[in-house]
Amino acid sequence: MRACLFAIVSLFSMRHLSATAPTASPTPAAPAPRRSDWATLQRLLPYLWTYKWRVMLALGFMVGAKAANVSVPLLLKELVDAMTPAVGRATGLAPGMEGLLIVPVGLLLAYGALRFSTSLFTELRELVFAKATEGATRSIALQTFEHLHALSLRFHLERQTGGMTRDIERGTRGVQSLISYSLYSIVPTFIEVAMVLTLLGVKFEAWYVYTTLGALVLYITFTVWVTEWRTQFRREMNELDSSSHSKAIDSLLNYETVKYFNNEAFEARRYDTSLEKLRKARIKSQTTLSLLNAGQQLIIATALVAMLWRATSAVAAGQMTLGDLVMINAFMIQLYIPLGFLGVLYREIKQSLTDLDKMFTLLEKEREVADHQAAKPLFIENQPSVAFHDVRFGYQADREILHGVSFEIPPGKTVAVVGPSGSGKSTLARLLYRFYDVSNPGDGGRIEIAGQNITAVTQASVRQAIGIVPQDTVLFNDTIEYNIRYGRPTATTAEVHAAARAARIHDFITALPQGYDTPVGERGLKLSGGEKQRVAIARTLLKNPPIVIFDEATSALDSANERAIQAELRTAAANKTTLVIAHRLSTVVDAHEILVLEYGHIIERGTHAELLAANGRYAGMWALQESAA
Ligand code: ATP
Repeated sequence: MRACLFAIVSLFSMRHLSATAPTASPTPAAPAPRRSDWATLQRLLPYLWTYKWRVMLALGFMVGAKAANVSVPLLLKELVDAMTPAVGRATGLAPGMEGLLIVPVGLLLAYGALRFSTSLFTELRELVFAKATEGATRSIALQTFEHLHALSLRFHLERQTGGMTRDIERGTRGVQSLISYSLYSIVPTFIEVAMVLTLLGVKFEAWYVYTTLGALVLYITFTVWVTEWRTQFRREMNELDSSSHSKAIDSLLNYETVKYFNNEAFEARRYDTSLEKLRKARIKSQTTLSLLNAGQQLIIATALVAMLWRATSAVAAGQMTLGDLVMINAFMIQLYIPLGFLGVLYREIKQSLTDLDKMFTLLEKEREVADHQAAKPLFIENQPSVAFHDVRFGYQADREILHGVSFEIPPGKTVAVVGPSGSGKSTLARLLYRFYDVSNPGDGGRIEIAGQNITAVTQASVRQAIGIVPQDTVLFNDTIEYNIRYGRPTATTAEVHAAARAARIHDFITALPQGYDTPVGERGLKLSGGEKQRVAIARTLLKNPPIVIFDEATSALDSANERAIQAELRTAAANKTTLVIAHRLSTVVDAHEILVLEYGHIIERGTHAELLAANGRYAGMWALQESAA
């Protein structure tokens, strides 16, 4: 019997599903192969194992609850037999008392106590185990969040936010349902089956054991088979759910664009098309579920009738007491009611495993830019220099954007990069921030800060040393103060205000009805482009790093404000190593060196005066902008 039980448990927990279709990853990239359920479980176990004593105690309570539960029908039999005169005499009632029905107080009290202890043990188990479940859920969710932040910019540019958040949400829920369904339902059911089968075997004929076992095997085979078949519908449903969610979120994020082009109806149609697919998949899933449930109930009902038939015949033949019949009936009901849920449980467990697998896949996504094992923090004593040595880089292997770029920003100096749109200027900033690595490290392509190759030091320390005012400023959906303070969360209010003053935005903020507490809206959309840019400047000034990058930092400002802020930026950058990316050449005339970048090549370099004198591309651009001005 143990072997049989083991086989059943194995069937439930270890079935390999490697042959099933791969699930889609949240990115449009190639789907990750699905790991087996067993591998997913193994991945989950360490989180639970932190709470091993709680798990043990909870399992102890569970066995207690089941033992109490199984004893109930035994007592019920005693009760019924005590109330049956013939049996009562046989069991030692005083002569002459046979006709009397005496309330067996002791048995009744014991019955009540057993019933109560079943619930008591169950509640105790829940109490003890809740901490383990919640703890595991929390660490997995946190780890996933941290990991997502550690993933490369490439991953984040490719991801579909709506679908990915859905996957994480389902995965976190999956931890809870997996634990509660497997530990709270499947395992107890099998413990109970083992106890009941033993009792049936000991107290009655083996026939009852075989019939119960036969029904069980049939039931489980049927359940597993149909559920396996149904999984495809369920998975399809989930994928459609994620994709419709992605569409809705993407559409809402682009609210303004939708309005500009009057495309509400188009968006609604697109969403509805995916909703319609989702509806069909849901219906298919529901129909097959009903089929599964009906089949299971048929197997259970047939087995129940067979058992009771045999027991009733035995009572009629005088081989069994009425109490025995009641006991068998109680056992069967007790056994088959939880079995009735087994199909649902199996499906839920499979579902949780699928959801968890998706989350773990996210968790195992390789970091494209990873710290070297021996990486130490960047060491900066005074003002650092920044140097690009023969840097080659392409976002895709088949399209190189930078073709061997070399330049140096001496400590505390400013280098400006100008050039046509798409020439690779912002890419320089992304590489310096180490969002990507150069593609020719073997051939000497490298970026150095203070003489240290940035791939040899920790990314955190590199980013700590740099501040950027990006081309497109995106703000957190919080207050203005929160967004400025983001540059240095430990800054005092006075420092935040000073940074805002330097960025010429303090007066604007204080004039607002809610002042620094004004919410900026999703992605900062409640602020104008110039205001957002000034918030970005303020938070970079607050961070006060030794290296700063201004990527078109004032492009969204009017001329008066631009001039004023340029003066501030010059002051702020006075002692810093600065990389300025600009279209408006008037903003870079003071740079120590100006590089003209075109199609990923530096085609000219020198000071403003030198470049004008050279009368090349820069001089042409300057003349064009001057005449336009
Ligand atoms: P602009 O002045 O318009 O801001 P830029 O000189 O700063 O332009 P970059 O942003 O560096 O240009 O982009 C250089 C090239 O790399 C462009 O052709 C762009 O299409 C491409 N590119 C930028 N980011 C990616 C990306 N994540 N994946 C693929 N290609 C990219």
